[in-house]
Amino acid sequence: MVVSVEQTDVAIVGGGPAGLAAAELLSRDGYAVTVYDAMPTVARKFLLAGKSGLNITHSELFERFAERFGSASPRLRAALDAFTPQEVRDWAAGLGTETFVGSSGRVFPKVMKASPLLRAWLRRLDTQGVTIRTRHRWTGFASSDLLFETPDGEKRVASKVTLLALGGASWPKLGSDAAWIGALREKGVDIAPFRPANCGFDVAWSESFRERFAGEPVKAVTASSAAGTLPGEFVISRHGIEGSLVYAHAASLRDTLEREGQASLLLDLAPGRPLERLARDLAKQDPKASLSTRLRKGAGLAGVKAALVRECVPEAGRATAETLATVIKRLPIPLLRPRPIAEAISSAGGVRWDAIDEHYMLKALPGIFVAGEMIDWEAPTGGYLLTACLATGKAAAEGMKSWLHDQASHG
Ligand SMILES: Cc1cc2nc3c(=O)[nH]c(=O)nc-3n(C[C@H](O)[C@H](O)[C@H](O)COP(=O)(O)OP(=O)(O)OC[C@H]3O[C@@H](n4cnc5c(N)ncnc54)[C@H](O)[C@@H]3O)c2cc1C
Repeated sequence: MVVSVEQTDVAIVGGGPAGLAAAELLSRDGYAVTVYDAMPTVARKFLLAGKSGLNITHSELFERFAERFGSASPRLRAALDAFTPQEVRDWAAGLGTETFVGSSGRVFPKVMKASPLLRAWLRRLDTQGVTIRTRHRWTGFASSDLLFETPDGEKRVASKVTLLALGGASWPKLGSDAAWIGALREKGVDIAPFRPANCGFDVAWSESFRERFAGEPVKAVTASSAAGTLPGEFVISRHGIEGSLVYAHAASLRDTLEREGQASLLLDLAPGRPLERLARDLAKQDPKASLSTRLRKGAGLAGVKAALVRECVPEAGRATAETLATVIKRLPIPLLRPRPIAEAISSAGGVRWDAIDEHYMLKALPGIFVAGEMIDWEAPTGGYLLTACLATGKAAAEGMKSWLHDQASHG
């Protein structure tokens, strides 16, 4: 039973970075905005991102930055042009959060957390008259109204224009649980299934390897997949592998697993040493010495790196110097499957680009716009996710303004 009815010019459903960015722009321009969120507080994922430093954007050349979104890059380009990484930094500075460029080119707040920025942002929204209604779970439509479950019962909201900024499907306990898929599919909106992105992978570690090395970082290696060859580090987990170098290859490995049923991450455990030199150094070792000794003395490998050789290539102990050198330079870690989406940093999939016009309005539902991670794009970690969420939030807000303007002039 509907217990209450409410009217607002602009309804924004989802108080993550995309929804709040849209609320900021629309309220600045004088629109009456109400933000609805299912959780008791907004922007929980943004706050969690702050726990690892809040990598808010990236300082690389903009042309390169704008290509990081794979096949979605052309569609995202206009939004990114209108809200560039430099503008993200200026915006944060305007809210009292100065940023710096880390050694990898990634941009972080100097305070390395999200809470001061979020507090200042919410204060600005409040000053601009934005109403935030938490514990309002959007469940679908009743004719053109929005329906919400609230602690006081069902609420019906009539808005002149609506933005859905409901997030992807990772970390559902923070609010973005993708439960909205049914309500949009019912209305003919085409949605690509959600898949984990920037995720770890399961590996069939032996019991002894798992017990000894789970939690251990593997540093100063390069890893290759169809995505290319990248330097970095990752972590051995109880289930398999995780960490920044794995996330950088995750989309490519996930796609290969889906397509071919198998995939391996290829490691170079001694990136500083060319293959020939490694083979020469290993050939100088006593062939009767143990594998550990040959790896330590001939290749400088010990600990988790030596154990990985033994774990992934059990016959390595009998290998010639040349073969062992090749194993060290191209060690395959065979992957079973991506870790569950609930653990992933982000998700691929969501509302398909074909279902959206160039102003981020759903073609099947005039007056309803979408923004953020709920749209079908993905990107590596590096600040790309937050930048694109903010940029699409703003682009959708511009679209909503034009739409309201057109409606007013026609009606
Ligand atoms: C551990 C972790 C670390 C991260 N670190 C970074 C980083 O350093 N840099 C970076 O760029 N990105 C990072 N990300 C990713 C980034 O946080 C997300 O891409 C971003 O928050 C998505 O923004 P959004 O506004 O689209 O959705 P969300 O932030 O997911 O917000 C969606 C909102 O919609 C609400 N909602 C969902 N369904 C409903 C409903 N039915 N009714 C009402 N409300 C609803 C949710 O409660 C939520 O508040 C990280 C993610 C994780 C999990």
